[in-house]
Amino acid sequence: MTWFEEKLYDHWRQSFKIGRVLFHEKTDFQDLVIFETPGFQRVLALDGIIQVTQGDEFVYHEMLAHVSTLAHGDARAVLIIGGGDGGVLREVLRHPVERCTMVEIDPGVIELCRKFMPDISRGAFDDPRAEIVIADGVKYVAETDRKFDVIIVDSTDPIGPGEVLFTEAFYASCRRILTERGVVVTQNGVPFLQPEELTTTHRRLSKLFPDAGFFVAAVPTYVGGFMTLGWASLDPSNRARPVEAIREQFTKLQINTRYYTPEIHVASFALPKYVQDLMTKE
Ligand code: SAM
Repeated sequence: MTWFEEKLYDHWRQSFKIGRVLFHEKTDFQDLVIFETPGFQRVLALDGIIQVTQGDEFVYHEMLAHVSTLAHGDARAVLIIGGGDGGVLREVLRHPVERCTMVEIDPGVIELCRKFMPDISRGAFDDPRAEIVIADGVKYVAETDRKFDVIIVDSTDPIGPGEVLFTEAFYASCRRILTERGVVVTQNGVPFLQPEELTTTHRRLSKLFPDAGFFVAAVPTYVGGFMTLGWASLDPSNRARPVEAIREQFTKLQINTRYYTPEIHVASFALPKYVQDLMTKE
């Protein structure tokens, strides 16, 4: 096999020239492959769908972690659903959170990403504030009696084990376990190619949260234009946090990012018209 072909869509495919396949096996939950490619270094694919690449993972992990945490402004308890590669965990732990709980269904993803792509988690799994739970995220949020300031749903697409993480029941459980100003952000696909996913998510989040919408990021290997990240909050003022306040808090962190800036944070909520139209589509 000299090319890895992603067949997420019937009419559109992307291929990566394979340098070396490092691992390929069916776990209890999904087909997992890690391969090297000249353009993006190492790549993780689950059930044939690109999940994370060393080349562009910073875009997505920085935006999920920093937009949610800096919009909230005082996040102490953070929950990650999915995220087995450890990239979001790494970025969240750059904030002075007290604890970051990660609920991942497939221990194989954690184990193999730690082994073959350790620079993505970069030691985050060993941070004393990190708590790793192996469980189905939909079950965890339905049963936990803990509360969280920020919930980050770093899931696969709504096929296979990730499907339950796009349901109204899941979002309702997330709302139940949020603190009073809580924020939820989600992986919500590429609307140009997955329009129904955006319309459905917006309908479900709007029913449950006073503030629901999306923000965008340009992730090269999530082909088809802007990727949308779902946004929901119990406090509408979180989304409107002024760039000056975000910049002041961000500067204090003394962290270097490669995509996120306070200005991109604010600008990312300005949606293209075709995305806005999908939000209101019946
Ligand atoms: N960046 C990727 C994307 O945008 O599609 C997501 C990457 S991350 C590897 C996705 C993770 O979600 C995987 O580790 C997968 O095992 C996990 N996952 C899928 N369904 C899950 C569920 N029901 N509960 C918890 N984790 C789940």
